[in-house]
Amino acid sequence: MFEPRYYRNFGLEEIARKVCDRERLTIADGEKLFACPDLNAVGSLAHEVRKRLYGNQAYYVVNRHINYSNICVNGCRFCAFSKKKGDPLSFELSEEQILEKIGANGHDLTEIHVVGGCHPDLPLSFFEGLIGKIRELQPHAFIKAFTAVEVAHFAKKEGIAIAQVLARLKAAGVKMMPGGGAEIFSDRVRSLLCPEKLDARGWLDCIRQAHEMGIKTNATMLYGHIETRLERLEHLVALRELQDRTGGFVCFIPLSFQTANTPLGAMEPPTGVEDLKTIAISRLMLDNIPHIKAYWVMLSAKVAQVALYFGADDFDGTVVEEKIGHMAGAKSRQEMTRSEIEGIIRDGGFLPVERDSLFRKAGRDFLETVDSKV
Ligand code: SF4
Repeated sequence: MFEPRYYRNFGLEEIARKVCDRERLTIADGEKLFACPDLNAVGSLAHEVRKRLYGNQAYYVVNRHINYSNICVNGCRFCAFSKKKGDPLSFELSEEQILEKIGANGHDLTEIHVVGGCHPDLPLSFFEGLIGKIRELQPHAFIKAFTAVEVAHFAKKEGIAIAQVLARLKAAGVKMMPGGGAEIFSDRVRSLLCPEKLDARGWLDCIRQAHEMGIKTNATMLYGHIETRLERLEHLVALRELQDRTGGFVCFIPLSFQTANTPLGAMEPPTGVEDLKTIAISRLMLDNIPHIKAYWVMLSAKVAQVALYFGADDFDGTVVEEKIGHMAGAKSRQEMTRSEIEGIIRDGGFLPVERDSLFRKAGRDFLETVDSKV
């Protein structure tokens, strides 16, 4: 590893030196990595960083997704999930139905992940009540709920500041926010694909406020549609700069675009090579975000397993029921058991480590944290 001659073949020797010396990579470095024809050269650098941080450990969580409704006031062109009210494919779960789904898992859940569309009618008080009931039902589970886009939507609908929404949700029991809605920060892409949605500045500002209130979040990037590789790199750098200020991001999740049932359905989804390269470059560029997720729902379990050698250290979780990726044609299953995930990780040559939402190890040594390594 770090054999200069090997990387010289691809013009990557200076980048390899920076990785070795733990120096920050520039956007120009990222462009060189994307342009490199040898996937293994890029992947080996990312794997070196991943090994340095976590050795052969690969994380997963026993979680359940709840998509409370797909009714959404926005109409993002990459989204197959959202429907307008009255559409035969729209759905809206009642509080009772949601609690029934969560209760079906007994007390085994470590994390409950709650997201939905920007519903035109449901008031913030509905979500506060819902979170309170989930807490009663699963007092030990970590509630990770509502993207920055949903939070900004609640604020607009209620006519109150984002900080007030965040404070109310935190008081209700939201401990962390997922990273969705970031898509690609490029104004060019957003004006073409999701002009109604919270813009990039708004997303980053909402997340900054959450971090400053002590609410940790994840971050995502939807790639493989009409964005350029440079726009991907600019997205990563925007996240890195915010992380320098707040330190509130826990995990970065590159989301491979699923094309089916969207207005972009004629496009080919990203190839496996593009997925692995994007994950590897994310690991290399995001030197201050602790974890990189190989989200098996979007990638497929097979590509996610290989991604553990390309900079990813987390496999996500049991999920149980997922609608956002599957309505867009994701071919993966809806659910994996703990033992299936452990088997995939072990079969890949890694040690499975069950974690909670903050990557503290679940089980007997629950509070041991690995985040301080970054
Ligand atoms: S991506 Fe989110 S905000 Fe956009 S249409 Fe789909 S559910 Fe609504």
